[in-house]
Amino acid sequence: MYLIEKYKNFLPINSDTPLISMGEGFTPLVKSRNIVKDIGCKELYFKLEGCNPSGSFKDRGMVMAVSKALEKKAKKIICASTGNTSASAAAFGAYCDLETIVLIPEGKISLGKLSQTVAYGAKIISVRGNFDQALNLVKEIADKQDSIELVNSLNPNRIHGQKTGAFEIVDELGYSPDYMVLPVGNAGNITAYWEGYKIYHDLKNIELPKMTGFQAMNSAPIVNNAPVKNPQTIATAIRIGNPASWNQAKNALEESNGSINAIEDDRIIEAYKHIASMEGIFVEPASSITIAGLYDMKNKNYDFSGQSVVCVLTGSGLKDPGFAETYLELEQQIIDPDINALEEILLV
Ligand SMILES: *Cc1c(COP(=O)(O)O)cnc(C)c1O
Repeated sequence: MYLIEKYKNFLPINSDTPLISMGEGFTPLVKSRNIVKDIGCKELYFKLEGCNPSGSFKDRGMVMAVSKALEKKAKKIICASTGNTSASAAAFGAYCDLETIVLIPEGKISLGKLSQTVAYGAKIISVRGNFDQALNLVKEIADKQDSIELVNSLNPNRIHGQKTGAFEIVDELGYSPDYMVLPVGNAGNITAYWEGYKIYHDLKNIELPKMTGFQAMNSAPIVNNAPVKNPQTIATAIRIGNPASWNQAKNALEESNGSINAIEDDRIIEAYKHIASMEGIFVEPASSITIAGLYDMKNKNYDFSGQSVVCVLTGSGLKDPGFAETYLELEQQIIDPDINALEEILLV
């Protein structure tokens, strides 16, 4: 069954809404075997959102936004993007025969995400500026032109679709985790998960998790309670200085008795390598901030004993080959195709 079909009672779907799917959602919830011991919690799960068709969680929201665009008979979709939104929009645009226009901050999106967007056939416009400025432009044009549908997370249908991540976690575990950990960029996902949990809370009487967000140190407007004019971080997917869902995220953090903290880039890079080598999970840097963040809390003497924790690993490590090239050192030995040479290395 399609994702938006399964959860249609909680989504803005009516008889005119076309039910589409590229295979998004139903992503694995993988139990940690190793990092869980360092954190000292009862259980730690990773929600592998990199397994979505375009390689990030953005597909959950995009499928809903594009279904609604089709319902409205829109011909074009547009977004500003740090990379994954454009890849997702372009994929659904190609699938649904919509023209896709993406505005990206010049030079600031990863090669993998850009390659996808090119391959899917979107029209790419590079803006000499940052994400926040690109977002202002697409808002303005979508306001002016009815035939162009905005598919950034300002579009409420995106948030609706992304709620399904929370539903899946509760459906699989049978309860909510105590801590729901997410990276925070434009703050749409943390908003969506909180809405999802509240819906299930009302319906199924489950407990609510503490929403636990992390922003990069020099790109941390919500942590510092002030917009960042020129946000900087190696985690390009969360390089956002003025989040669109700022208020909703604050609300989620307050209502859930949660927390949001800033993490140094060096810790993000460390965690990027650590989760791959400790758990066999390769994620992009924005996703690894959740792991860096858990270690940071642990180092600040947070007591996780008896607690269950779920980290949303938002995107695949394959998204960012340039990052891998810069931050991973390739150590290898080169031999002739000769068994003696191989034995010499392996049997010493
Ligand atoms: C978009 C994105 C984020 C940030 O999500 P928001 O909803 O903007 O807070 C984090 N990680 C990845 C991989 C993303 O693509």
